Amino acid sequence: APRKLAAGNWKMNGDLAALDQIAMIGDAGASCDVLICPPAPLLVPMIAGAGPVKIGAQDCHAEDAGAHTGDISAVLLRDLGASHVIVGHSERRADHAETDAMVCAKAAAAHRAGLVAIICLGETEAERDDGRTLDVIATQLAGSLPEGATAANSVIAYEPVWAIGTGRTPSLDQIAEVHALLRDRLVARLADGADVALLYGGSVKPGNATEIFAVPHVDGALVGGASLKAADFIPIIAALD
Ligand code: 13P
Repeated sequence: APRKLAAGNWKMNGDLAALDQIAMIGDAGASCDVLICPPAPLLVPMIAGAGPVKIGAQDCHAEDAGAHTGDISAVLLRDLGASHVIVGHSERRADHAETDAMVCAKAAAAHRAGLVAIICLGETEAERDDGRTLDVIATQLAGSLPEGATAANSVIAYEPVWAIGTGRTPSLDQIAEVHALLRDRLVARLADGADVALLYGGSVKPGNATEIFAVPHVDGALVGGASLKAADFIPIIAALD
């Protein structure tokens, strides 16, 4: 069975003073995996004080080193002690024009470096309204998951773009439909596809976490806003644990 994972994506939020949130999250003593992905400059101090909490990055470059000003390699992230890296978040697909092919190359770089790649997928509201959700998700998965992906080095996060930061979530049936599709495609493509953890992301809060985690093939969450404060994230972790 997939390992459960409660992951927090801090996006461009948090500062040095927020390090105490990590200690509080660690002290809560979950048995599932708990991960926080802070802004890159916070990785080093956060890793130093992470305790049982895993620390990951929000992006990496597709190459291992070179002339790429401002970018960060998966090799360096691994060297610093990061365990995971998010790739293909919809905000990067939108703000930095990342394509499935680019996301795939970044995930492959993560794998080469020994990091777990959290590969993000999700439809826009227009795509859902057009009835294209399952097509979009299947296409993104096929194009973003690199050769060599396994349940040990890859996690898939389903994040409907219209549910991110909006307080809106799909119905439980809609989440179930997408996660079932992801599971089917992963089982068809990977020997251990049944064990790849599938996260739901988009407006996960303490108040809706329990029902979302009860949906088949939801193995955890990728949480934005509600991961910034331990007081919000701990009850979400507890709902999964
Ligand atoms: P919110 O939980 O703030 O909706 O963000 C979800 C997300 O984008 C996590 O990567």
